[in-house]
Formats: sequence, structure tokens, C-alpha cells
Amino acid sequence: MSTLDLVAVTKRYGDIVAVDDATLSVPPGSFVCLLGPSGCGKTTLLRIIAGLESASSGEVKFEGERIDATPVHRRDFGMVFQSLALFPHLSVRENIAYPLKIRGRGKAEREKRVAELLDLVRLPGVADRPITQLSGGQRQRVAIARALSVSPKLFLLDEPLSALDAKLREAMQVELRQLQERLGITTIVVTHDQREAMTMADAIVVMEGGRILQMDRPIDVYRKPASPFVADFLGQTNCLVAKPGKGGAEIAGGTIPGLQLGAGRREAEISVRPEDVVIRPAGDAPIPATVEFVRDMGSAVEIYLSTEAGRMIAQRASGHDALAVGDEVSLSIAPDAVVVFSEGVAR
Ligand code: ATP
Repeated sequence: MSTLDLVAVTKRYGDIVAVDDATLSVPPGSFVCLLGPSGCGKTTLLRIIAGLESASSGEVKFEGERIDATPVHRRDFGMVFQSLALFPHLSVRENIAYPLKIRGRGKAEREKRVAELLDLVRLPGVADRPITQLSGGQRQRVAIARALSVSPKLFLLDEPLSALDAKLREAMQVELRQLQERLGITTIVVTHDQREAMTMADAIVVMEGGRILQMDRPIDVYRKPASPFVADFLGQTNCLVAKPGKGGAEIAGGTIPGLQLGAGRREAEISVRPEDVVIRPAGDAPIPATVEFVRDMGSAVEIYLSTEAGRMIAQRASGHDALAVGDEVSLSIAPDAVVVFSEGVAR
């Protein structure tokens, strides 16, 4: 049985449909990321799961039971918000112990639990410090420890790492995932950062305009995106229009040999990841191109190319012969690296 089920959940604010017919199942012990651009409805969906908002229609089930009418404090879920919402006038210890205190747990039990949690989130020796004397990363850990203090049945986090600088955020993504694995706690995190979702999640739920577009393992969302929007949101991609041609498919000015678009289709939208665009000397491969810009990032090089089909981006490891702006090259794309979308071509 799944831990959490949403069935056709819709949330309206007047004319705005913040969440539109969302159905999803979260398996026990899994780490799920709700991912999408600003305003796509991910926070609203998390707040409905938490019980901070009620759905306009649809069902929310926890371990098979409807919980739509269960108030927040009865759901026993742990929550961490972007703002962290720590109490600035309390110490680290008092912050972490707070949920236990309001549940009437005794002092000895609270002390023991706080010590365990500080250990768990790797924050030894700061228990008596005021929150105001902690760094951003330390505050983050206190918020996580506080949310976990009551051993919640579900752990919900809304953009928990967005206030941290890039390096610390990457380190905390790994820590959060390792912590979740150690505890085996079912976790749902809202993020707009695809790299963060790829790092942490067992499953990514991609949302746009209130709708769930796809839910899959990170590698499948990346490799088998359900739509051009998903392909483009998860990293970079080249979205092109292809037509059937001799021995394969044609894009403007070139061919992808062996690519089938599906019986009877006169054109189809396709996606090719930059790492699957192979650059060869001019004339050696079927798609002519000119180098427009080279972005050398040390470990990898991104090459912007102008082709008859418009701009394309290729990526390759550094160590190849350097390319210069204006170089004439040719491109080859393997048919099995191409995603062919089934929907019609958007114009
Ligand atoms: P962000 O990443 O910017 O927080 P989000 O994906 O979390 O965005 P939501 O905050 O869920 O998006 O908002 C979804 C839509 O619902 C938006 O159009 C937003 O303006 C609207 N909305 C959210 N809360 C309310 C509210 N209380 N009243 C009216 N409209 C709201």
C-alpha cells in the first residue's frame, strides 16, 4: 500500500486553478520531489497534503484512509518551510524540544531526544546557543531536527535549502537524502531546482500550470520526458521539428538516419540532449553547422551551434580539439538518443 495518495485533487482560488486534477501515489519510505517553475502549484499541493489548505475537490489519503477532514496537528506530519520559522528568542535545544513540549512530554524524554537529534543532524555542541548565533546551514539543521522531533509519519519540506549559498545547498542536498535513507521516512520536498530534485529524489513529479505532467524516476524524467516542457525544464535540450525522410528523419538542413517518427506521422517534435550531439569535421556527418559560441566550464565544454534548424547546443568533455567561433563543423545524432513526442507540433 502507498503511504500517501492524492486522487483528482483540485484547488481553486476564485478564477485561479492552483492545482488541477492532481493524482499521485507516494510509496512508503520514498523521497519525492515536486518540481516546477514558479506558480505551478507545488507549494499549494504540499500545503494540501500538510492540511494547511483544503482541496476544492478530490481526495487525500494517508495509508489508505481519507484525511481531508483531519486537522494539521492530528496528521503527525513534520514540516520545514523556506522561512524555517524558528523561534529567534529560544535556544537550539528549546527550538528542537518545542513540539515535544506542547505535546506534554517530560523533561528527561525531551533532553534525550534533543541529544539524539543534534547527533542525527550533525550539530554537536550548539544546544544552548541562541538561534541568532547560528549560520544558515546550522539553522537549516535545527529546523530539520525540530520537524523530526516527534518522529513524524510523513516529512514535508517546502524549498528548504533555497536560502543557502550554492555550495552549502549542494552539500545539504546530499545530507538530507542520506538522513532520509537512514530514517526510512517518507518525504516530499518542493523545489524549483532540477539539479536538487535529481540529487535527492526517488521520484520527481513535474508540474506546470497546476497540472502534474509526469512522475518518474529522475533518470527516466531526464531520458524519457513526456513532453517538450519536461525535456526543457530538466536540464538543457534541443527541441526540433522532424519529418520522415529517406532512411530516417529529416530536420531542417540535415538527417538523423534510422529515426522513425511513427506510422503515418508527417512531422513530430523531438528532443536531443546536448551530450548526444556529436561534433565532427565539416562534411563528415549529416547536419552542417557553424560554431556560434563556446562555453568552457573546465570539466565540460558547451558549444552553441547555428544550423538550418536553428540554434543547437552540444556538450562534450574537455580534452577534444578546441573549437573557435566561426568554425564550420557537422553534427551527428544517434537515433536511440532522440525522444520523439507523441503530441502534435506546437507552433
Ligand atoms: P513558487 O515556487 O513561486 O512558490 P508554486 O509552484 O509553489 O510557486 P503556488 O504557490 O502553489 O505555486 O501557487 C500556484 C498558483 O496559485 C499561483 O498562481 C498563485 O498565485 C496562486 N495562489 C497560491 N496561493 C493563493 C492564495 N492564497 N490566494 C490566491 N491565489 C493563490
